[in-house]
Amino acid sequence: MTQYVFRFGGGVSDAQEDDKLARTNLLGGKGANLAEMASIGLPVPPGFTISTELCTRYYADGETYPDSLIGEVAQAIAHIESVTGKTFGDAANPLLVSVRSGARVSMPGMMDTVLNLGLNDATVEGLAKVSGDERFAWDSYRRFIQMYSDVVLGLDHDAFEEALEIVKEDNGFYNDTEMEAEHWKALVAEYKTLVEEQWAKPFPQDVNDQLWGAITAVFGSWQAERAKVYRRLNDIPGDWGTAVNVQAMVFGNMGETSATGVAFTRNPSDGSNAYYGEYLINAQGEDVVAGIRTPQYLTKAAREEAGAKPLSMEEAMGETYAELAGVFDLLEKHYRDMQDIEFTVERGKLWMLQTRSGKRTAKAALKIAVDMANEDLITQEEAVQRVDPMALDQLLHPTLDPDAVRDVLTRGLPASPGAAAGVIVFDADTAERRKGMGEHVILVRMETSPEDIHGMHAAEGILTARGGMTSHAAVVARGMGRPCVSGAGELVIDNETRSMTVAGRTLKEGNMLTLDGSTGEVMAGEVATIQPELVGDFGTLMEWADRSRKLNVRTNAETPADCRVARDFGAEGIGLCRTEHMFFDAARITAVRQMILAENEAGRRVALDKLLPEQRQDFTEIFEVMVGLPVTIRLLDPPLHEFLPHSENEFKDVAEATGIGIEALKRRANELHEFNPMLGHRGCRLGVTYPEIYEIQAKAIFEAACDVLEKSGKAPIPEVMIPLVGTKRELDLMKEVVDGAAKAVFAERGQSVDYLVGTMIELPRAALMAGEIAASGEFFSFGTNDLTQTTLGVSRDDAARFLGQYVDKGIYARDPFVSLDIDGVGQLIEIAAEKGRVTRPDIKLGICGEHGGDPASIAFCAKTGLDYVSASPYRVPIARLAAAQAALANQ
Ligand code: PEP
Ligand code: MG
Repeated sequence: MTQYVFRFGGGVSDAQEDDKLARTNLLGGKGANLAEMASIGLPVPPGFTISTELCTRYYADGETYPDSLIGEVAQAIAHIESVTGKTFGDAANPLLVSVRSGARVSMPGMMDTVLNLGLNDATVEGLAKVSGDERFAWDSYRRFIQMYSDVVLGLDHDAFEEALEIVKEDNGFYNDTEMEAEHWKALVAEYKTLVEEQWAKPFPQDVNDQLWGAITAVFGSWQAERAKVYRRLNDIPGDWGTAVNVQAMVFGNMGETSATGVAFTRNPSDGSNAYYGEYLINAQGEDVVAGIRTPQYLTKAAREEAGAKPLSMEEAMGETYAELAGVFDLLEKHYRDMQDIEFTVERGKLWMLQTRSGKRTAKAALKIAVDMANEDLITQEEAVQRVDPMALDQLLHPTLDPDAVRDVLTRGLPASPGAAAGVIVFDADTAERRKGMGEHVILVRMETSPEDIHGMHAAEGILTARGGMTSHAAVVARGMGRPCVSGAGELVIDNETRSMTVAGRTLKEGNMLTLDGSTGEVMAGEVATIQPELVGDFGTLMEWADRSRKLNVRTNAETPADCRVARDFGAEGIGLCRTEHMFFDAARITAVRQMILAENEAGRRVALDKLLPEQRQDFTEIFEVMVGLPVTIRLLDPPLHEFLPHSENEFKDVAEATGIGIEALKRRANELHEFNPMLGHRGCRLGVTYPEIYEIQAKAIFEAACDVLEKSGKAPIPEVMIPLVGTKRELDLMKEVVDGAAKAVFAERGQSVDYLVGTMIELPRAALMAGEIAASGEFFSFGTNDLTQTTLGVSRDDAARFLGQYVDKGIYARDPFVSLDIDGVGQLIEIAAEKGRVTRPDIKLGICGEHGGDPASIAFCAKTGLDYVSASPYRVPIARLAAAQAALANQ
């Protein structure tokens, strides 16, 4: 017979499971921790847990219980009775219990709790006598009726609140504390009438009926709508079920020697090693949380620091506090983590009601992990596993001062983390100009295009009305480490009047705006920010992480400044240098347009000759910053329409540079128009049709490499990457162009550098044909932005409009442009890696899509045995930590 009920307390612990995880799965988080606290001898009120397995069975059996359960519960109640010396339903010395839910993971506020169960018209008198406090007994009874009616009977909660208010008003009371026994008694009568009116039956007097009602309500709350929504949002499987915890009540509201409180064993906000918490004398737990009375400090030091008057627990209840502090230390040593604790003092006796690992800020997580390793409480490897890599994001960028007032206008997508404040500007040139005058600016655009790059660089932050998490604005902003809020759909931008309107308010160019790219909030005015500190604990943890990881971490960067930031963050090379980003420099764009609009090769070469020295300079600077490390340079990739001139002025510039009439240029631009540019004339298709573009780019790379070698004596390590390859023949043709350029440059310079030629894998065909392609490609870099787009058949630029709903409806667990679709796209990566290695066992494999900075995707890359991931500069530390965690998990 399966055991469903597990007792704890009073020296008994039925949970035999040694494995912590198995125990938590069976008893839920709360039940497992209660059993564990009891088994290490802490003062836990006796009780029992009905397992999560029973919950699952209950639903499988059409919401019925197995026959054995009644007996098991009765025995467990008898256990509580024998430990407490009280009897359930006994009019002289009644046992009261709490009934609480507790799933494997905490689902705060999602499920139900009933306190003071076991009170009825007879036992309330017994409680009054035993406690010697009639007021307390009747207050407890009314609390019970109120909670039970709400949670178990599902009656209208407001009616009970109203009844309480009327009694208070009638007596001229302001606080509940002014109510005397007789008033509570009158309210109980009132409540019972309310129940009969609404439920058409009297309030249940049989304590066992009460108990089973509460147990069933807790199991029922697992399938409540709010719990289902919470599970969906937090990826909690519906078949986990909840446990039910039934436990003897202890009372923090039995006078001045009683109290209740919550505490953390360390400061969850900054991680410092000091107890942190609050307590209330003569109160029940819910009073602390509900904020009816202002709680007092736990420690004298905290009280003094806050300049508060009411005595701390350390001062008011010295002895009990000392005992509690001992329990804190014991729990931390036992769980080897910072604990979040609930306790109650009943007439001077301390009881522990809950413990669990405490939630904390990123800063605290880092400090606590490093401190605990230094205290030998955990190993350095465990410390590395304790910190959520994504939480580092909070530390790598300026953040909003949590104490500052926020005037939130609207909310968009949290596209690139960090906070920024500045004056609103609506175009890139103004951004650059005003920045040049020493102002901080926020660039606000409908959406950004590569032409806005200089303005994005100049801006402290970027706000767009359109676009998703992998929109141009989002990708570029993350790369630059600029905070960005994208897709703020409520925003109406009027470029004519240079103003924006949102939530009925209009802001003009020059008005102050603050963005929080970590939350997506857009705020009027300037909100104070706090700068990050990347030394100390951060550096220490990174050092420990690097010792464990096997994946290399590179960066996606194309300016020397970004390369330097990434190197400082520990990047071990460049995984993707997008050369088209370099082409959008204001000084070059006209030559680029001239190249694109040229009618023939000769025309293109004229333009390319203007670009060659500029490109060479770019590569020289990057090679210098990245000395000793590999630099993957991707030849021109993007859809041509991104380059085409739009405005009259832009056409005029090109006309002046080329001597071709504006009308002729417009005609040519029209010819180049594509219906589906993402699947059009882009990637290596540009190189196939206009080989001279790739030739000149390759020439610039090798000349720069020779220059740097000559100057420094250190050979750069270029890796030339061909984008959007689908067939071996494409790669062969392009490799020929690159090798040809290398040969020519090396012959002319009388020296050479080693280099590789490889390809991006961005098309399903490339993944499937990887065996063949690897015969020509010396490395593969998975361009998972495009590979996701082409595998899912979802446009990365249009996805934001509907992908949110796809995630809500569980079609994809997460946005596949943010976290790799492992089942689909991941399968293609596995196929390509395997086939590539068969042909070329030492083939170098990496990933350079946005997923290279996403911890779940990085774990997949580690498992698949890739050599490196490449992430935007500010994600490099996140990738280092995630790679270490993946390696430790695979050990
Ligand atoms: C990719 O497609 O994943 C990639 C890195 O290239 P881009 O984002 O420039 O298309
Ligand atoms: Mg791509």
